[in-house]
Amino acid sequence: MRLFEELGGVLRLAAPVERVTLEPGPHAPRHVVHAADLPPEAFDVVVSNADVHHTYSTLYRGVAGAERRRRRLERMAWSMSLFVLYFGTQRRYPELSHHTILFGPRFEGLLRDIFRGPRLPDDFSLYLHAPTVTDPGMAPPGCEAFYVLSPVPHLGNAAIDWAAEAVRYGDAILAALERRLPGLRESIVTRRHFTPADFAATFHAHHGSAFSVAPTLTQSAYFRPHNRDPDIPGLYLAGAGTHPGAGVPGVVNSAKATCATIAADFHVVRI
Ligand SMILES: Cc1cc2nc3c(=O)[nH]c(=O)nc-3n(C[C@H](O)[C@H](O)[C@H](O)COP(=O)(O)OP(=O)(O)OC[C@H]3O[C@@H](n4cnc5c(N)ncnc54)[C@H](O)[C@@H]3O)c2cc1C
Repeated sequence: MRLFEELGGVLRLAAPVERVTLEPGPHAPRHVVHAADLPPEAFDVVVSNADVHHTYSTLYRGVAGAERRRRRLERMAWSMSLFVLYFGTQRRYPELSHHTILFGPRFEGLLRDIFRGPRLPDDFSLYLHAPTVTDPGMAPPGCEAFYVLSPVPHLGNAAIDWAAEAVRYGDAILAALERRLPGLRESIVTRRHFTPADFAATFHAHHGSAFSVAPTLTQSAYFRPHNRDPDIPGLYLAGAGTHPGAGVPGVVNSAKATCATIAADFHVVRI
């Protein structure tokens, strides 16, 4: 961020973009960004790393070309969602590893339920993350920090009322973990959850999907939404829903691909 600002960049945090409209420019349309509590501001180029469906359905709503993209995205398969439970214990677990994967009793049936819905399965396979195993400074002395992640169907496949389900589902996960970590529940001093509904509300993730457009063969790499919009001049995309794909390495590479595309389009010589 320091480098970005030294290069003249201006960082505006806590300014959700509500809409982008186009106005005529000397050579190409200019993108007028309407962000909360800020005056509208016009730019030659916009790079959106918000959820790709949100970009077209909400930010660029009404702009020619956006509606067709939105419809196309809605015909695509979207990745599963996640139920994430963060918790801290007032004791340590010396036998614990930093990463643990716990397989449930079912495999193929569970995957079918996760990827197709339409209901929340009663069983689960879990990823347990305990960063304090390698960095005890992540929690107060003698304590352990965790998150446990359970893949669940996205809201388009299973319209689960997460406000009603979350605590019960979290309790069931903790009961399952306690079989491996004795006395777990009584040692928990803090806990909070993040559900598919939170992915949708907080990150504007379509269907509350955790990894955007599903990485199936025909939706991967070149077949994902491209880094340059083909119909809206000056709109570029980066992030999980674009080429090459989700995950931190994919997203960083999408940013690099987008930078290279903009540099080529604007004849910027890269040093
Ligand atoms: C629980 C979990 C664990 C993961 N673990 C790993 C891992 O171990 N390794 C790995 O490689 N990947 C992991 N991933 C995947 C990885 O985190 C994502 O693929 C990556 O963060 C996506 O980056 P992004 O920039 O596309 O989206 P995001 O990181 O979601 O960033 C998009 C940002 O845009 C903001 N935004 C949305 N709409 C607007 C708007 N209108 N105005 C302003 N801002 C807006 C959102 O609030 C958000 O901050 C994990 C994901 C999850 C959910």
